[in-house]
Amino acid sequence: MANVKIYTTDFCSYCDIAKRLLEKIEVAYEEINIHGDPAMRDQIEELTGRRDVPQIFINDQYIGDDDSLAALVNSGEIQSLLGSDQPTQVETKSNIEERNVIIIGGGTAGFAAGIYTSRAMLEPLLLIGNALGGQLSLTLDLENYPGYFGTEANEFINGLKQQAEKFGTETRFETVTEVDFKQHPFWVKTYDQEYTAKSVIICTGSSPRTLDIPGESEYGGKGVSYCATCDGFFFRDQRLIVVGGGDAALEEGIFLTKYASEVFVVHRRDQLRASQIMQERAFKNDKIKFIWDTVMEEVVGDEQKVTGTKLKNVKTGETQFFPIDGVFVFIGHNPNNQLFQDVIELDDQGYVIVDRKQQTNIKGVFAAGDIHDHVFRQAITAGGAGAAAGIMAEKFVAELENRSYPAEISTN
Ligand code: NAP
Repeated sequence: MANVKIYTTDFCSYCDIAKRLLEKIEVAYEEINIHGDPAMRDQIEELTGRRDVPQIFINDQYIGDDDSLAALVNSGEIQSLLGSDQPTQVETKSNIEERNVIIIGGGTAGFAAGIYTSRAMLEPLLLIGNALGGQLSLTLDLENYPGYFGTEANEFINGLKQQAEKFGTETRFETVTEVDFKQHPFWVKTYDQEYTAKSVIICTGSSPRTLDIPGESEYGGKGVSYCATCDGFFFRDQRLIVVGGGDAALEEGIFLTKYASEVFVVHRRDQLRASQIMQERAFKNDKIKFIWDTVMEEVVGDEQKVTGTKLKNVKTGETQFFPIDGVFVFIGHNPNNQLFQDVIELDDQGYVIVDRKQQTNIKGVFAAGDIHDHVFRQAITAGGAGAAAGIMAEKFVAELENRSYPAEISTN
């Protein structure tokens, strides 16, 4: 049997993705949590040249992170690495499964839609993908969801899943690869299975934006990171830059002060976008300094790791080399719309267009959460939209089947 080791830290959503993938292909693994263990952290950095987790080894051969693992699984190459005759590639089953409602995406909106459609006895199927929890999985604490104060985001996500399942939502860690909404019932394909559904609710959320500057991808995992809770531990007593001026930049910047000696928030304007409460906390934190009106033009390193950045003041045009050990990027998100381009109507920023009842331009296909909302983007608004989409899906299916529908919702 292959010896599979996965190095992780606490609160690392990408580590969870990798572990789930290994479990899905039924590969036993040893998890080594390096959180709070500087010697182990240094050893991993030496072995892989990387300052992020997860890091995965098969029979002492370094294979990379969760993305590398997913690529190996999807191509089937993992089989030879595992030295197994058993097919480990996820295989598409030939029978098409028929469902009432399919919800794509396992964040707050998706689970809210699951709770409502399962309580409507529609036995919905929620396809989570690999990452449970959406954007919340990259957050530490939940402070602004009414009724939840200082709750761990992880705990909240698990609660959402349990609640949806309790009422009859079936959840599967399957990634949707293709949809066809021209036919009805709608057609949905994952790596594992083909489905049809009377109604589909799109809750695919959004993904962190990148800076797209020289050096950023080259030093990804070697000092450039998009997850403070996963990788902050690699930067004890070091100097860090956080790029961005929103809530995420400040929240993660404050978190990073647990480890870093100094955190410089580099923001392209002289006013923050973040909420007042986050601004106050950041201004009060002695380890946080702000570099205003400034953009990062390049990440510089010595091939092994980040050593500095090139910063430009947008008002004076002045550029400077700024020595730094790590760069954390929190500059907002892009909607995860790859499946829906040329399938449903998107606005010019790529968000799914919905009406006030979460209805897309295709009757019976609804959308909720960050995939359509570029204004509020809160867990609570995503939850509300997911609930509304669930109610509307219930109504759509009831009308389709000529059943009476309990609520009075005008279709106009
Ligand atoms: P955001 O609010 O959209 O802020 C993104 C920040 O990045 C903005 O300051 C923006 O600058 C900057 N930016 C965008 N593109 C850039 C680029 N190419 N180069 C440099 N800077 C760039 O995103 P977010 O902070 O991820 O927050 C997303 C949503 O989640 C928000 O609604 C937020 O309130 C919520 N959230 C809440 C909490 C909390 O309450 N604890 C925590 C995290 C997130 P400009 O300001 O100049 O546009």
